Amino acid sequence: MQMERPLKVLLLSAEVVPFAKTGGLADVAGALPKALKELGHDVRVCMPHYERIDPQRFGLEWVLEPFAVPMDSATEPVGVLKGTIGDAIPVYMTDNERYFGREGIYGYPDDGERFVLYCRAALEMLKHLDWQPDVIHCNDWHTGIVPNWLQTTFRADPFFAATASVYTIHNLQYQGIFGQRILEVAGIDEYGFIHRPDMADLSNVVDLMARGILFADIVSTVSERYAQEILTPEYGERLDPLLRDRREHLLGVLNGVDYDEYNPATDKYLARNYDVNSLDLRAENKLALQRAAGLPERADVPLFGMISRLVDQKGFDILAQAFDNIMATVDAQFVILGTGDPHYHNVFGDFAQRYPQKLALFLTFNAPLAQRIYAGSDMFLMPSRFEPCGLGQLISLHYGSIPVVRSTGGLADTVQDFDPSTGEGNGFAFAQYDGMHLFTTVVRAAEDYRYRQTWRELQRRGMLADYSWHASARKYVDLYHKALAVHAAEAGHA
Ligand code: ADP
Repeated sequence: MQMERPLKVLLLSAEVVPFAKTGGLADVAGALPKALKELGHDVRVCMPHYERIDPQRFGLEWVLEPFAVPMDSATEPVGVLKGTIGDAIPVYMTDNERYFGREGIYGYPDDGERFVLYCRAALEMLKHLDWQPDVIHCNDWHTGIVPNWLQTTFRADPFFAATASVYTIHNLQYQGIFGQRILEVAGIDEYGFIHRPDMADLSNVVDLMARGILFADIVSTVSERYAQEILTPEYGERLDPLLRDRREHLLGVLNGVDYDEYNPATDKYLARNYDVNSLDLRAENKLALQRAAGLPERADVPLFGMISRLVDQKGFDILAQAFDNIMATVDAQFVILGTGDPHYHNVFGDFAQRYPQKLALFLTFNAPLAQRIYAGSDMFLMPSRFEPCGLGQLISLHYGSIPVVRSTGGLADTVQDFDPSTGEGNGFAFAQYDGMHLFTTVVRAAEDYRYRQTWRELQRRGMLADYSWHASARKYVDLYHKALAVHAAEAGHA
């Protein structure tokens, strides 16, 4: 049992499993609260109510009738619905027809206004609910304005006097950059731009990610390696000077996997359930996947799976460089599931036409199919250019699909290159970001796949490793206490 006092934590995230998801952020926001609750904390979540979230399907109920939320020089009416995850953990959803009565999650010209409204509504909601969190845990640029407000607009507000902020960077590349107008919308134009001679290109834009980093009591990111990497110009996405300034308050906590959601022994989407002691059964999932993908049903051929946003970050440029070489050299199959940049839709669409017996491409977002790929592939490919944490490799380990990765960020922290001479390692990894190193690593993996006993050992090792949320949730609790200490110390100085 945990001896510390239970904390009240509000987690803000633009996406939360099972309500809305485009990537790993949703997995984290849906799973971390459950693990915190198991440790005895009172954790609640707040996200926008997108039109696609069907109140009936998720059993949502109204908890607050529309109230006036300050926005620009006027107000917007926002109501609050409530769903739950895990053991009755409330997920509040801010509802506003004008900004969120739309099909998509992101990608609108007024995304700045949309997420500022959601954040402001979340803070105002707390007053209506009369629930004062110890910590507000913000995630990614959509919530970056909140630490800023807590240090400005709400600085003298007794309701938030004891509330500390944590700001977690899930992906530094997406910063939420807008014009000066957004400061007016947020009601903080009097505090102006961030002026720094070493970050001159930020002096006439509003960068919501930068504001989260600058104003939060504690900043974190989703692996220790990425926490180090973003201090450098190579990975810092132009914010490295600011991150270096805040390095004393910057920590890395690795994401976990929700093993209730991702468990090959109970996964209802699989042709055949299996566990570490019944790995022979896994073969049925491979054949079912080959059938569904229209590939030859061959048990012996190494099958590489990939489930990913189709964007530069994920290494599709070096995979495209290497692909003809791989096809000419390796007897292997590929199943790729993803959506994103139209350029990659075309490039890999062409490959699929040229290699119909070896590559199956699904240009959609499809969670059941994703789970079938984790269970039916032999290897799981993640050649990322950068990777804050990465969940794909952790899920694939648990499903007995061996990760083949570029060593960067969370991939470097979780996948160790297999060394056949010592038997150590849990996957295949390369350091240099180019098509040639990717190619040779794919060749190595396909070669080692032929040694059935060794491969089985690799699978068992991956499946037995514990990347659940238990350890990481404890680290977040430590981080919340640190944030409270920083906040209290600063309040003392104010
Ligand atoms: P990121 O958050 O950068 O997209 P992660 O590896 O952290 O990458 O998380 C990706 C998550 O999204 C995983 O759970 C993965 O299975 C899922 N995912 C990505 N693309 C798809 C897709 N097209 N269909 C279904 N699930 C997907």
